[in-house]
Amino acid sequence: MTAVPARALDHWDERFLALAAHIAGWSKDPSTKVGCVIASADRRVVSTGFNGLPSGVEDSIERLSDRDLKYEMTIHAERNAIINARRDLTGCRLYVTLQPCSVCAAMIIQAGIAEVIAPPCTDPRLAETFNLALTEQMLAEAGVALQSLALDHSPGPQGHGG
Ligand SMILES: [Zn+2]
Repeated sequence: MTAVPARALDHWDERFLALAAHIAGWSKDPSTKVGCVIASADRRVVSTGFNGLPSGVEDSIERLSDRDLKYEMTIHAERNAIINARRDLTGCRLYVTLQPCSVCAAMIIQAGIAEVIAPPCTDPRLAETFNLALTEQMLAEAGVALQSLALDHSPGPQGHGG
């Protein structure tokens, strides 16, 4: 199974990924802040999302500090962006500050997203937790391009927000 040939990235891709990094800062998660932007192929922002608990569910520091409970309740940035979208996402591009987990990859495929743009994952522990090898395999099989783009203005570790 071969990966989809990569489109040449341009400054708009950098802008949308930088916007996703900005939106990551809106997450109340104390440890991992992830932002996501979905844009159309003609470069309009269609939807945004960040990781967090569902609306109305109390996001107390006690809950957010309990890792197991937090993982049970948190909606990933990509899923929030897909849910928040008010239009068909076929052919859209999804920018996210952390490579999608395999469950988000499944939803991205099913939503008709054509391309995922994310910084390279440099954390082996995270790669295992998120099953990124499976994500890459699934996206390739489904014909969704996965493009690696560094967040060059980010001073900290990749994917951990602003
Ligand atoms: Zn996910």
